[in-house]
Amino acid sequence: MRAQVLHAWGGEVTPADVPTPAPAAGEALVRVEACGVGLTVLNAMNGNLGGRPEDLPRIPGHELVGIVTALGPGVAHPEVGRRVMAYFYLACGGCDFCRLAHEPLCRNLRGYVGVAADGGYAEYTALPAGNLLPVPEGLGAVEATAIPDAIATPFHVSRRAGIGPADVVMIVGAAGGVGVHMVQMARLCGAEVIAVDLDAAKLDATRELGAGTTLDFRAPDARARLAAAAPAGPTVAIDLVGSRETHAFCLDVLARRGRMVVLTTFPGITLEVASRRLVTEEITVLGSRYASRWELGEAARLVAAGTIRPVVSEVVPLERVTELHAKLRARTLFGRGAIAF
Ligand SMILES: [Zn+2]
Repeated sequence: MRAQVLHAWGGEVTPADVPTPAPAAGEALVRVEACGVGLTVLNAMNGNLGGRPEDLPRIPGHELVGIVTALGPGVAHPEVGRRVMAYFYLACGGCDFCRLAHEPLCRNLRGYVGVAADGGYAEYTALPAGNLLPVPEGLGAVEATAIPDAIATPFHVSRRAGIGPADVVMIVGAAGGVGVHMVQMARLCGAEVIAVDLDAAKLDATRELGAGTTLDFRAPDARARLAAAAPAGPTVAIDLVGSRETHAFCLDVLARRGRMVVLTTFPGITLEVASRRLVTEEITVLGSRYASRWELGEAARLVAAGTIRPVVSEVVPLERVTELHAKLRARTLFGRGAIAF
């Protein structure tokens, strides 16, 4: 089968013909129809989600959607012929966190699809059956690639931060793959949205998704515009960029009793906050890690109902996936990219 293969953590994928996998016990074989391409794939390829030499060579891609074509021994679901999407984390399913639907906190986490197991940058992949969740009828494969990470993650954030109608939600990195869906999710929760990013055209596009105010992070008048839009500051600040600079900005502008949400896992970044301020302003700093299997199902339901619109701005064949990687590195892609077969 055709695949794009990673031979070194920190490297780029190269095309290869590799044997089609056979599903082992507990696994199902999926004929990949499409796979999302976002910054998390690049983060995974860089080795930031596990860089064990024994995991190489590896086929990346965790946001895969496809059709189940065969089942390994002991597997009854999902049935052959069913369109499925992949759950990103290789969770055990049996520990206390898994049983409480906090699979990202699994005590026996084996790793990630596309890192510790081959992913969707190939015609086929064999994955644990428990990692394959049904895609609702009527949804296309490409639009469904946005569900398992880019839409499920904002759904989890909205629940972690308890976003509601009284909130003013500032999203830093609002034009990225998670950001464009975070804008929609915050609006769905009834909040006002302030979108922060770097590119005027991309910021304008977030307005169409529900952002009431847009801010160019580098513009000299950014602070003044923010103060005009939210004089008391945003009640929720979601940092999807995760640099020291964006962390400091979010904390700096946060309203009294505000909640700051951190999602990135870049090594070496620390968040500094005066403990005194946590007390005097009753602010909360929250980490938000991916989403549960249940939340993926709910995210899919929102998309099927037309409530959340998947934003996949560019689709290329497998052979051209490195072009999307280059656009992600240059930050020129709006929303998500995808490969499709
Ligand atoms: Zn577990």
